[in-house]
Amino acid sequence: MPQNLHKIPSIFYNSETGTPIERCLVCDIYLLKEVDYIIEKALVNYPSAGSTDLIWEFAMCMNCMDTVMNDYSKASHQAMNEFFMDNMNMTRQYVLAGQDDFNPEEWLKECIITGKTQDQCSQYQLCLQCSGELAVFERTPFMISDEAMDKVTQLLSNATVDAMNKFRDTHFPPPEDLSPLLRDRDFVLI
Ligand SMILES: [Zn+2]
Repeated sequence: MPQNLHKIPSIFYNSETGTPIERCLVCDIYLLKEVDYIIEKALVNYPSAGSTDLIWEFAMCMNCMDTVMNDYSKASHQAMNEFFMDNMNMTRQYVLAGQDDFNPEEWLKECIITGKTQDQCSQYQLCLQCSGELAVFERTPFMISDEAMDKVTQLLSNATVDAMNKFRDTHFPPPEDLSPLLRDRDFVLI
């Protein structure tokens, strides 16, 4: 097993079954055998209560990821790529990997863009690249703070934000008891 491949951290498991997410959100392909894919989760944070709530979670194969990303306008896509290239601080991931530390809590502790810690965020997103039943500890896992997500959203055209929100509403229809607070943030696929 290559050094950077590890068991998928349980925080990225299917929150209902407590086991690894098995299928692509879009095409339903079985993921746990030789498929490259990403897992993303968005959480709302209640630091005073010391708890979090899941807003949404999914796994998506790279083919579908490419297709969905094509819904971004070319300008938006480029602006987002440039933003991530210029602002992602991989130092933390390099140092942890260099120390053979693959504790996901350490990798996800601080926003990869702003350095803001999880407990300072009202919402945050987690991202993990996987290959079959293993996680690829390299660029991911990482955490993106609410502050950084706002910056990314500002780079996107209205048409792109609309396309992403439509994608969210198709795949994550709001449960009736979901607070409108959780929906006021635009959905951004990263
Ligand atoms: Zn797919």
